[in-house]
Amino acid sequence: MSSLAQQYNAINLGQGFPDFPMNHTLIELVNKAMADGHNQYVHMNGLLSLRESICEKISFMYGKETDPETQITITPGATYAIYTALTSILHPGDEVIVFEPAYDSYIPNIEINGAKPVIISCKLPRYEIDWNEVREKITPATRMIMINSPNNPTGKVLGEKDMQQLQEIVSGTNILILSDEVYEHIIFDSKRPESVLKYPELFKRSFLCFSFGKIYNCTGWKIGYCVAPDFLMKEFRKVHQFNCFSTNSPVQFALATFLKEKSEYLQLGKFFQHKRDFFNRLMSKTKFKLIPSQGSYFQLYDYSVIGNENETDFALRLTKEAGVATIPVSSFYKESTDNKVLRFCFAKQEATLSEAVERLLNNGF
Ligand code: PMP
Repeated sequence: MSSLAQQYNAINLGQGFPDFPMNHTLIELVNKAMADGHNQYVHMNGLLSLRESICEKISFMYGKETDPETQITITPGATYAIYTALTSILHPGDEVIVFEPAYDSYIPNIEINGAKPVIISCKLPRYEIDWNEVREKITPATRMIMINSPNNPTGKVLGEKDMQQLQEIVSGTNILILSDEVYEHIIFDSKRPESVLKYPELFKRSFLCFSFGKIYNCTGWKIGYCVAPDFLMKEFRKVHQFNCFSTNSPVQFALATFLKEKSEYLQLGKFFQHKRDFFNRLMSKTKFKLIPSQGSYFQLYDYSVIGNENETDFALRLTKEAGVATIPVSSFYKESTDNKVLRFCFAKQEATLSEAVERLLNNGF
């Protein structure tokens, strides 16, 4: 959709990236790290001072003590962390429970390891997880359950009750969890993130994946980290050692300092909620029907009163006729399930969002 957006000179509300400048102090810290000569490999597991800063943040956010030596690894982004975690524990024939719609790397990452995705669809419009269905789908081959909250693409945030259900289901089993928490701070309406880090029974069997790209509006930097208990992190590092070995050094020096500035990540929820509300206010003048978002960069809209085409065709028409690119949510389903829903990214400047909605209105949408 991004190439198509370019081709038709469309406003790209498809791909999830901010179109506004990132924090300049952080850029200066990276420049300084380079000028100071921090340009060689750092430790395979990541710069220790950055791992320590991460542990401080985890303790502050979730009241959980973690060990920077044995439980944190810095990675070139969260997608890499997810792939590495899956590769370190999956064997052919293993089953992994995935909730759809799902971030697009999950299923290919499961299948490339010879394992089988066992898919559970979250029901519209609230995209809630049916935990009874999860119980029914568990077999002796279930190796892992993957969760993602706040969710891409739905914006759904898991609550305490969801975490308790998950805890009940896995306790006393060997089932592992992968929790993709990249939108940890991008959470709205005074909700608090229910991280796996708050639940000892869950943490002891979990890989958690995070992305600095999402915290600091620099998705192109591709830097993140994985948190896991010692026995899982040991396996993770066996793959990491021979995959990327060491992650970008100067950025790690900069982040080790910058991460201590709590206000930077604590204001993210408010900042993006303002964008969500601004976008939704404008969109209320269109014919699209809102599906509420509780977090992430994303807002879903139902277009069923506007068009009959499938999601891909409708998204193509929107790009060509109105000059606004979006993502068909069917692309987050293995079987391209079509619910007549599009994903819009509102992590954009207000001028970009205004121009996009203006185009929709001018073209009869
Ligand atoms: N998980 C989810 C749910 C995402 O939306 C994204 C980014 N689109 C990632 C992981 C990947 O993060 P990174 O860019 O750090 O690899």
